[in-house]
Amino acid sequence: MLDEIRSKIAPFNARLVAVSKTQPVENIRKLYDAGQRVFGENRVQELVEKQAQMPADIDWHLIGHLQKNKVRQIAPFVKMIHSVDSLKLLQTIDNEAVRLSRVIDCLLQFHIAEEESKFGFSETEAIEMLQSPDFFLLKNIQICGVMGMATFTENTAQVRQEFRELHRIFENLKTRFFSEKPYFKEISMGMSGDFEIALEEGATFVRIGSLLFSN
Ligand SMILES: *Cc1c(COP(=O)(O)O)cnc(C)c1O
Repeated sequence: MLDEIRSKIAPFNARLVAVSKTQPVENIRKLYDAGQRVFGENRVQELVEKQAQMPADIDWHLIGHLQKNKVRQIAPFVKMIHSVDSLKLLQTIDNEAVRLSRVIDCLLQFHIAEEESKFGFSETEAIEMLQSPDFFLLKNIQICGVMGMATFTENTAQVRQEFRELHRIFENLKTRFFSEKPYFKEISMGMSGDFEIALEEGATFVRIGSLLFSN
């Protein structure tokens, strides 16, 4: 599937995060051998175990909900955290990054879906945080953009509307807070079932798991 997915992504200015959660390292290795270097995991434990077994030139992205007490385990190597959903979490990431003398790239996760259970900021909450004095004190994190998950539904018009909303939030934050920060450029949206819509709506990262590993 990798080649087919790649050819669908190619016309867009986007990159593939191969979501390898639940996959054994042999399967990850196959994609690695085919040139894939960006992998996403949603659990810290699994991420740490796989990172230790796989080549060092992989970019590991954490895409799932992150608890503050687990930040330390991934801070030394994680390339990007897509799932930042509170100032407190950001402060914890920053503390670890300072301790390690590295800068950690983060995305702000937004709640764009209808479903109750998904994590993420509202636009208002994010703006409040970005204006707060505490946010200005953060030194070793870099907010590179936004992430979101659409509602799990057959209704493609709704999915498209939710992706469009995330893109609008991205543009609003860029204008208001990041106009002089060229690294604020990422929109992480789209999974196996909806990545083509996400690409059309401006995704720069698509996070694909089940489809990619389905032969
Ligand atoms: C599992 C997961 C994906 C990939 O989902 P698929 O439907 O398997 O492509 C993307 N993003 C997040 C946050 C996930 O947890």
